[in-house]
Amino acid sequence: MFERVDFYAGDPILGLMVEYANDSNPNKVNLGVGVYYDENNVLPVLECVKTAEQRIADPISARPYLPMEGLPGHRKACQDLLFGKDAQVLQDKRVATIATIGGSGALKVGADFINAWFPQAKCYVSDPTWGNHISIFEGSGIEVGKYPYYDKATGTVKFDELIAFFNTLNKDDVVLLHPCCHNPTGVDLTQAQWDELLQVVQQRELIPFMDIAYQGFGEDMDSDAYAIRKAVDMGLPLFVSNSFSKNLSLYGERVGGLSVVCPTEEEAERVFGQLKFTVRRIYSSPPSHGGRVVDIVMNDEALHKQWVGEVYGMRDRIKAMRLKLKSVLETKVPGRNFDYLTTQNGMFSFTGLTPEQVERLKTEFGIYMVSNSRMCVAGLNGNNIDYVANAMAEVLKD
Ligand code: PMP
Repeated sequence: MFERVDFYAGDPILGLMVEYANDSNPNKVNLGVGVYYDENNVLPVLECVKTAEQRIADPISARPYLPMEGLPGHRKACQDLLFGKDAQVLQDKRVATIATIGGSGALKVGADFINAWFPQAKCYVSDPTWGNHISIFEGSGIEVGKYPYYDKATGTVKFDELIAFFNTLNKDDVVLLHPCCHNPTGVDLTQAQWDELLQVVQQRELIPFMDIAYQGFGEDMDSDAYAIRKAVDMGLPLFVSNSFSKNLSLYGERVGGLSVVCPTEEEAERVFGQLKFTVRRIYSSPPSHGGRVVDIVMNDEALHKQWVGEVYGMRDRIKAMRLKLKSVLETKVPGRNFDYLTTQNGMFSFTGLTPEQVERLKTEFGIYMVSNSRMCVAGLNGNNIDYVANAMAEVLKD
């Protein structure tokens, strides 16, 4: 009966996690999946989250269904973080926001909404991008194309090609953008480049869809949202998917949000209704636990402040690892440029290693990174960084 069902080879990044778990090498290092581990190689529970969890647990309360759009405090948390607490666009009630099942859920609901209301739209993603962007949009029935982004030769953005490509797109085509900490390259646009790109988006009446999964890991909470706020200032319609997986270290709770910035309050209400209907048809309503944690941490002034400090602590540790790896590699592999390690932002570094070199790191050293050469810098720590640097130097020699 099911013999016609195709074999699923598994997700390349999640598959790496399983391979890593099964590796008996005592020195193994996981630089594959985009997860932040602390200096002791432990997935942290943030202090602000612990406090929120204690409040939720005492007294233990009933668990009714949440509304389709999630908790009001969760939705407000997304809006304040993305657009700024006092943003005019929020006062004007022009943003329809729902709580979602992680950033992935936000992308899925957004893609379904686009397919329903803009059926002619194609979606363009950066080359390269996080692989699941393509799967999610195609899974919603949308044709996906790629726009030029990363220049392997220089390790920078092919900005002129990018602009020229956007100038060929049609009205209502969707462009999926990474406001900060580009996944997988770590290479971001400058603010001046955002200004120029968004002008083209505006002129050609494209639909920007900004996916922000690492807010706070780049420069700071506000600078990382520059592109989002600029698009709003320009009066663009805008989709934003955001994830709290990384910046609240709440991966398994699946917390995120989808916001759609509309020209008027009346349109925002219509869009909000359709987003709720989209949710109703897929999973009816989001789970409550993670939403309550988001609500408590983000809307309590003291906890919010503590949270920002904790995110910046993670950000700074990653930056320190970048610096250290760069300096060790520079001494071990003279003549090769490792500046990319400190110019790239966020959790990831595109190392430029060949697939063969990445494979050697895995089989000979138990060091796991994605075959496109993406390394999760947040998997490095004081105990493994020399081992990783030596291994990288070794495979780069031949
Ligand atoms: N967008 C990007 C760019 C991501 O890197 C990720 C997570 N790897 C997501 C979205 C999805 O986030 P979540 O895990 O919250 O679904």
